[in-house]
Amino acid sequence: MISGAGAVPAPTDVFIAQHLINGAWVSSASGQTFDRFSPANGQLVTQAALGGEAEVEAAIAAARTAFDDRRWSDTSGKERATFLLKVADLIDANRSRIALYETMESGKPIAQAEAEIEGAADIWRFAASLARTIHGDSHNTLGPDMLGVVLKEPIGVVSMITPWNFPFLIVSQKLPFALAAGCTAVIKPSELTSATTVILGQLLIEAGLPAGVVNIVLGYGDPVGTNLTNHPDVDMVSFTGSTAVGKAIVAATSKTLKKVSLELGGKNPQVIFPDADLDEAADAIVFGIYFNAGQCCNSGSRIIVHHDIAAVLIQKIVELSRKVPFGDPLNPSTKVGAIISSQHQAKIDGYVKDAVKAGATVAIGGAPLTIDGMSGEFYQPTVVANVTKNMAIASEEVFGPVLSVLTFTTFDEALEIANGGDYGLSAGVWSQDISTCLKFARRVQAGTVWTNTWMDGFAELPFGGAKESGLGRELGHHGMDEYLETKTVQMRIGKTRSRWV
Ligand code: NAD
Repeated sequence: MISGAGAVPAPTDVFIAQHLINGAWVSSASGQTFDRFSPANGQLVTQAALGGEAEVEAAIAAARTAFDDRRWSDTSGKERATFLLKVADLIDANRSRIALYETMESGKPIAQAEAEIEGAADIWRFAASLARTIHGDSHNTLGPDMLGVVLKEPIGVVSMITPWNFPFLIVSQKLPFALAAGCTAVIKPSELTSATTVILGQLLIEAGLPAGVVNIVLGYGDPVGTNLTNHPDVDMVSFTGSTAVGKAIVAATSKTLKKVSLELGGKNPQVIFPDADLDEAADAIVFGIYFNAGQCCNSGSRIIVHHDIAAVLIQKIVELSRKVPFGDPLNPSTKVGAIISSQHQAKIDGYVKDAVKAGATVAIGGAPLTIDGMSGEFYQPTVVANVTKNMAIASEEVFGPVLSVLTFTTFDEALEIANGGDYGLSAGVWSQDISTCLKFARRVQAGTVWTNTWMDGFAELPFGGAKESGLGRELGHHGMDEYLETKTVQMRIGKTRSRWV
């Protein structure tokens, strides 16, 4: 366990967060604000303007005007790329400050936050490379007097709604691609993590973004999120968050039939075959479940291990679990920090207690964790064995440092368990036989499959969910395609059209 000794100093001032509307930083018309306290030590971190209908209306109007007068969409790919690269450089230059607020608001370890901000800058650079490659098709085989041209155009005004678990990284999986495509945006960060999206807004202005192209409204899902999804002047909603809210957004957007892109929850399986390298697998499993304290859509939260090797593998996982440095998020040695809120802590604990009542056994952990000098919420590294597929902990998103262990005897049984349930975000397979890995990769229902690894990510590769884990993709060129509309232009060449009447 890691205490406060050697920690990075916490900010001494409260971060004052305002809305960014039409290029200006503004308070709410109501004058109301809301506070965010550190989940690790209770310090007041951020006081944010509390957005309501007036702020959403003004932000959407600004984004609509900025799109319709073409102040951004008429810029060349070269100009957009230059701007995105400038933002990437500013993110790098401000990495420590962004990481500090990310850690203070979310409870994640400072070293991890620094790595995420570095990764976010890389995504902005990748999107810059795409900005200069947008192109459609031409069809020159439609007959001698016709030419078909397929244009790619920006979809318009995009509402972006983001969660608290990777605030800066997730907005960076959306915004640079939308800007590369020529769209304008209104962003609503989670009410728990407003600060770093506001810092991003400051950097966008510093980099010279025209007023109204990106707007930020702070506040709660209702009314800010709801108004951003049902407003007729919004063309698309890009949402990352829970499947329950994702479904509410699909219902809300159906009234105006907007395009929707959804990155939702997961209950991601890793199947371990007897010929796997168990030491490699155990290390990746421990990383997969404790990274971000398990509060990760991609958490490898259930392992499905061959019956013959289950005891050995569990033993290795338990031994590694004891060594993971849990503790003060501001200490650079910490690998696992705080749980986002006390309500969430209680939810995690409830899943473990219910599983035990249903017959599962706790191999390690299973209770809140006390860290010296920290008043906030922490949860012990927890491995729950003897889980069966009918238990809630086997199919629902616990979103904490809690691993469920199920067993199998045949390939088909493993696949059936892996494909059980409503989610389909990611999946993994461990075997030294490439055919076993490939057979599993082809049959598992998931947006991403990792073979003999877990949770690697690249700006080049698309990410998203199957089944109830989402709609659409982020990252890669697929990520930018989401923000483009296709327009067909059919051109007659010469006066060759035969008259209808
Ligand atoms: P959440 O769904 O509670 O909230 C996400 C965002 O939606 C917040 O900004 C919230 O204020 C807003 N919101 C809430 N109700 C709304 C409504 N009715 N209309 C519009 N907006 C509304 O999710 P969370 O607790 O912030 O994040 C955790 C969830 O996010 C987990 O389920 C996790 O798996 C998922 N997630 C998915 C990915 C992915 O890429 N697939 C990545 C990170 C997190």
